[in-house]
Amino acid sequence: MNLDVLTIGELLVEFMAKKVDQDFLHPEEFVGPFPSGAPAIFIDQVVKLGLKGGILGCIGEDDFGKNIFDRLEKDGVDISLIKRTKEYITGIAFVTYFSNGERKFIFHLPHSAAGQIYPEYLSDNLIKNIKCLHIMGCSLAINENVKKTIEKAVDLSYKYKKIISFDPNIRIELGLSEEYLRVINYIASKSSIILSGEREILTITQKKDLKSAISYLQNIDTKIIVIKKGKKGAEVYYDNKTYSVKPIKVEEIDPTGAGDCFDAGFIASILEGRSIEESLVRANIIGALSVTKKGPMEGVVDKETLEKFLRY
Ligand code: ATP
Ligand code: MG
Repeated sequence: MNLDVLTIGELLVEFMAKKVDQDFLHPEEFVGPFPSGAPAIFIDQVVKLGLKGGILGCIGEDDFGKNIFDRLEKDGVDISLIKRTKEYITGIAFVTYFSNGERKFIFHLPHSAAGQIYPEYLSDNLIKNIKCLHIMGCSLAINENVKKTIEKAVDLSYKYKKIISFDPNIRIELGLSEEYLRVINYIASKSSIILSGEREILTITQKKDLKSAISYLQNIDTKIIVIKKGKKGAEVYYDNKTYSVKPIKVEEIDPTGAGDCFDAGFIASILEGRSIEESLVRANIIGALSVTKKGPMEGVVDKETLEKFLRY
């Protein structure tokens, strides 16, 4: 199996609060199940751009598992690394947004099928046949065996000189222990591309300002550092250069998944041989377009839509 991009992590379904400021303390209406999971959204967006992408993950033998599996298969993701288990049900997330911009999650992950990923599933041969490994930090917090699997994939990819890209994608709701910080820093030190939010880059580097965070990462040999700034656009730091892009004006319906689609847009463009600047331009468009649809994976942008947007 030859893959442009391999990712590892949670396949889940998501239920979204129908109204803003809806809490989890009272009976309210939710919309779902939507296919979701940061690595799943990421890899779906990668293949929508015409690259070969696969995900190592696990689903239960239930309709939630079928929901996410069928969607990835239909969109063209290589599903041969998706495992199934009878013992656990598919991962589930509930999310609600507040008018102050905050959001709350409830995740059913560590003891779900999403947690049933093991290092034995990885072989040298598998990693030899990829171009890029992309890791989402949220997956590291699922449980110990998922974390060990990801560490093994990172070590093998490093050994075989593959591109390693990393989005720390911290979900405070999933816990931020010292061990979590250690493994995030370990993966950052092996990555040549880091894509992060403004706030989370300070958390992972334990620095007070962006400048110190960037120079810390450059010192541990990260070649390309991309900072995602939500409705303020994005910027990239590499060599001694900085390049930033203004946000595309869109009507934001649902920001979930924007960062994952953005990551996919950037990585896919780099793998297509585009410059860092052009890759940022493309990722910024994809991130913006992705927020115009409700549902975490519903905003993925296909190649034609992107090319059409670039022509205008
Ligand atoms: P998350 O907190 O969900 O992990 P993230 O930090 O990974 O988010 P965002 O910064 O929310 O990702 O979004 C990624 C990119 O998508 C932004 O840098 C920007 O390019 C684009 N984007 C997101 N929201 C908007 C918006 N409302 N308008 C224009 N562009 C947007
Ligand atoms: Mg993110």
